[in-house]
Amino acid sequence: MEIRIDRDKCVSGGVCAMFAPQVFDQDDDGMGVVSDAVPARELAAAVRSVVWRCPGRAITVYDQEPAPTDEVPEAGR
Ligand code: SF4
Repeated sequence: MEIRIDRDKCVSGGVCAMFAPQVFDQDDDGMGVVSDAVPARELAAAVRSVVWRCPGRAITVYDQEPAPTDEVPEAGR
């Protein structure tokens, strides 16, 4: 699970930080921020609850591992 907040959609208010404070926080402007982008599995239910509660529909949860890339890691560093 990976979590992202679309700041263009966030309307602030802090619902995310209120319902899942282990994963979300607010910046100085009240905008939601992700404090733990890859939270423990036991927090999944709380995160999904926040996704539905978010008034801006600004939170996206990615369940799958990122797609592999064609990049080859540099060796010998
Ligand atoms: S609940 Fe949604 S709209 Fe509210 S602060 Fe969090 S991300 Fe922003």
